[in-house]
Amino acid sequence: MIKTDAIIIGAGPTGLFAVHQLGIIGLQCEVIDNLDRAGGQCIELYPDKPIYDIPAISECTGEELTNGLLKQIKPFKINFHLSQRVEEIKQENNLWILKTNKGNLFLAPNIIIAGGVGSFEPRKLSLKESEKFEGSQVFYSVTNKALFKNKKVSIFGGGDSALDWALELAKVNEITLIHRRNDFRGAPHTLSEIKKKEKEGKITIKTPYNLKSIEGEKTMTGIEIEHEDGKLEKIKTDYILSFFGLIMKLGPIADWGLNINNKTIPVNTETFQTNKEGIFAIGDICSYPGKLKLILSGFHEAALAARACFKRAKPNERYRFEFTTASKNIHDRLGLKK
Ligand SMILES: Cc1cc2nc3c(=O)[nH]c(=O)nc-3n(C[C@H](O)[C@H](O)[C@H](O)COP(=O)(O)OP(=O)(O)OC[C@H]3O[C@@H](n4cnc5c(N)ncnc54)[C@H](O)[C@@H]3O)c2cc1C
Repeated sequence: MIKTDAIIIGAGPTGLFAVHQLGIIGLQCEVIDNLDRAGGQCIELYPDKPIYDIPAISECTGEELTNGLLKQIKPFKINFHLSQRVEEIKQENNLWILKTNKGNLFLAPNIIIAGGVGSFEPRKLSLKESEKFEGSQVFYSVTNKALFKNKKVSIFGGGDSALDWALELAKVNEITLIHRRNDFRGAPHTLSEIKKKEKEGKITIKTPYNLKSIEGEKTMTGIEIEHEDGKLEKIKTDYILSFFGLIMKLGPIADWGLNINNKTIPVNTETFQTNKEGIFAIGDICSYPGKLKLILSGFHEAALAARACFKRAKPNERYRFEFTTASKNIHDRLGLKK
């Protein structure tokens, strides 16, 4: 059981800035995110797109903003618990116990939900049989590419992830790239590299095809794909990798007894507390009159929620407002040398 002052659910821009706001007032926190990296929508949906409305930064990409936020919280040496989804929350006296889908347990007086539009999850294959092989022969992300060495891999999808992995894995094995349309959405440069590999016989491209069935009882031995004109084709396959993009689900947050309104959590704008004492909601997931789903609003909300966490984390201490420019305490917490 990990004990801390506050647990932050979501490592998007709002969750990352909440780490900073907790850190400068001397509170510890742990951050949990379902994705395998920090950055939320900025890193997952628009890493290369420029943002023009971050105060004092005329232009930065989603990735640059994330890197900036990560750099700013470096002094606090925070633990990130990535690739895990918060599933359960329960109360014990004045504290909250939180459990992730990997079985990790956390204990804290405060929870800050910075869950955005919910957890990002892969859009799965619609074929029911695929569930049986999920995690053994059917994957929606690559965590260990050595698994695919010298194996027959069928990759589904037409975007960057499908093209990038087809190219990467073609270095060590036979790849079939299958897409339901003739046109690929991925980067033109990657596509031209793939076409070269096709000529060399390293990648077979099948379009416009859909997955029709999976062969094999305990072990998948092959797949059958269907052309849009109805023609069927069998392909020997050891592994399926499917990249149909991400969907956003409010997921378990909806089951924690919080007031939910139109997939958002109403909050008190003085503290950003929800209807549960010690549970705060900030960023895109919270709602109140006049709410703007902008990063800068999330930053303000993080500042107020962090101060409200102080009272519950250190009930015997008085919170004192201090400017970062002038506070020796804050400078010490930031590890600044005089
Ligand atoms: C294409 C696009 C362009 C945009 N451009 C701008 C712009 O120019 N300016 C601007 O201000 N805003 C812009 N936005 C909006 C901005 O990205 C969001 O307002 C911002 O990302 C919200 O931040 P957040 O931290 O609240 O949530 P998110 O960025 O959505 O992050 C939430 C995180 O919580 C995680 N999570 C959720 N539930 C769980 C759970 N149960 N367990 C574990 N993890 C969980 C998710 O995996 C996710 O990583 C844009 C959005 C899009 C899609």
